[in-house]
Amino acid sequence: MTGTFTLINPATAEPIREVSRASIAEIDEAIARAVSAQRGWAAQAPGARADALRAFARAVETHVEELAQLEVLNSGHPISSARWEASHVAQVLNFYAGSPERLSGQQIPVAGGMDVTFHEPYGVVGIIVPWNFPMTIASWGFAPALAAGNAVVLKPAELTSLTAVRLGALAREAGLPDGLFQVVTGSGSVVGERFVSHPDVRKVVFTGSTEVGVSVAAGCAQALKPVTLELGGKSANIVFADGDLEKAAASAPGAVFDNAGQDCCARSRILVQRSVFDRFLELFEPAVQAWRVGDPRLELTEMGPLISAAHRDSVSSFLDGAARVAFRGGAPDGPGFWFPPTVVLPDSPRDRIAQDEVFGPVVAVLPFDDEADAIRLANDTIYGLAGSLWTENLGRAVRVARGVKSGVLSVNSHSSVRYWTPFGGMKASGLGRELGPDAAEHFTETKNVFFATDAS
Ligand code: NAP
Ligand code: MG
Repeated sequence: MTGTFTLINPATAEPIREVSRASIAEIDEAIARAVSAQRGWAAQAPGARADALRAFARAVETHVEELAQLEVLNSGHPISSARWEASHVAQVLNFYAGSPERLSGQQIPVAGGMDVTFHEPYGVVGIIVPWNFPMTIASWGFAPALAAGNAVVLKPAELTSLTAVRLGALAREAGLPDGLFQVVTGSGSVVGERFVSHPDVRKVVFTGSTEVGVSVAAGCAQALKPVTLELGGKSANIVFADGDLEKAAASAPGAVFDNAGQDCCARSRILVQRSVFDRFLELFEPAVQAWRVGDPRLELTEMGPLISAAHRDSVSSFLDGAARVAFRGGAPDGPGFWFPPTVVLPDSPRDRIAQDEVFGPVVAVLPFDDEADAIRLANDTIYGLAGSLWTENLGRAVRVARGVKSGVLSVNSHSSVRYWTPFGGMKASGLGRELGPDAAEHFTETKNVFFATDAS
């Protein structure tokens, strides 16, 4: 072990506890245990793997309250959100528990024999997750990876490791083989980089910043390892004059201020057709003021604090200088890393506030002229993760949904993550897709076997 890291409650700025930092030797030992556990796991009958994952799901289900309370303490998520997140992990496990028996290959007609494909697991998969949704994002990796017959080593973000460590223990309590799913705590530059460089980690899944994602991908390229990347976003919420303005304005705070805006899918740009721009702002202001920011332990709280003092400084830096603040919501003062919901009217779509990911409760509202202008502005970003559009015109909804270069779009709503549908980004928002019906297959490589049947 190479020392410890102090976890801080972001709602109070008080220390919670120490978490150990794994040394390179300890990481390598964990990977060696995973290699050994994976052989036995892949050799189990598909139905036995399915049963084991369902048992893990049940263990999570019966500990939803404990996991949720840990997330409130460690991440400052409102308790109602944290309960949803913990339940979501159980649902993702249950869903991919259906995969082992469905990983069918193909039989392909050939002369002189029989040709069959198999979905072979990679072996050990390394999963590196960020601090914004510690439980859910981890499960999007580990559930399908395990279902496909892999072992998993999971590195939580150092700031938010408590729920991941508890999930690792629940997997063991539920009867998953020793070494099959291990949570390795420590910094990204040690544990994360070791997952990338270690020859026995055969696939890497990374969620986090575009900058680190690029370096993880470069490291994986050196070792010829496949990598899935879920990176940042600057998603547009496009409001057309023919849309339901009341509904669009009432739902816009949730689409950007949920999890204090620390969401890669946050609709952090609202593009409003010029003819209804002022009307939209009139409707949006009371919705922002009504957004309940406060003690994450309370049932009615909709938004808690930011994750850390350093992150609050980073979010604040976007409001230095020229940014024109239209209006703000409320936030507690006193200890904790609080930041009020903030609505900014940029002078130009090229302004930093309209281009860069803030990862905080700050939204830029910009006008557009017509449908073509809306699509052009929505795509005027390096990112392409999510987006929403509001219109009652069906043809326009289809055209704009197809025209915006993003992986996940919703029409007349903001929902973006349903675990049984694919999720992921275009452009600088990522590479590959998670979730959906095919995710377990993404943790396999296809093997093609020809059997000669000629009698001679
Ligand atoms: P980050 O630095 O990319 O961290 C994400 C994960 O990668 C953490 O577990 C981190 O570990 C690990 N990591 C850091 N350096 C690494 C390296 N060289 N090799 C392998 N793994 C490494 O993200 P962040 O600093 O937490 O957040 C910065 C920004 O990223 C945010 O402001 C936001 O713009 C974006 N972000 C996006 C998402 C998303 O869901 N797409 C999520 C979070 C953040 P440690 O932190 O423990 O060192
Ligand atoms: Mg970082």
